[in-house]
Amino acid sequence: MSRTIKVRIAVAVDPDGNWNSYGCNKHSTSFDDYNKFAMELASEAVSEGEARFWIEAELPIPESVVVENVIVSPVVSTEIIHLCPQADSGITPCCGKTPFELPLTDRLSSNPNFVTCGKQ
Ligand SMILES: [Zn+2]
Repeated sequence: MSRTIKVRIAVAVDPDGNWNSYGCNKHSTSFDDYNKFAMELASEAVSEGEARFWIEAELPIPESVVVENVIVSPVVSTEIIHLCPQADSGITPCCGKTPFELPLTDRLSSNPNFVTCGKQ
């Protein structure tokens, strides 16, 4: 159930077809004072002989929305994981390269189960 607000907008239309409007609820004035004030402001910007109207409407007040069941796409990792060089070697057992030869985005793991190099 959304909340609503009743708006009351003063509109003035002059004989040339120009129009101006004013409406706002941020006044500490009384209802009668607002009506006078708003219509004076609406009428100021049009030529003499204007017609004056009140437009009233009930509009929804925006509310924060809770989004549920959001499906987040899994992040596809493009990094390649190589097996760490063993203690007696400076090259990766998976592809025979030194860590310095590997692309900066690649990673090393001591666990063979994580290796994605594909050259084991
Ligand atoms: Zn490798």
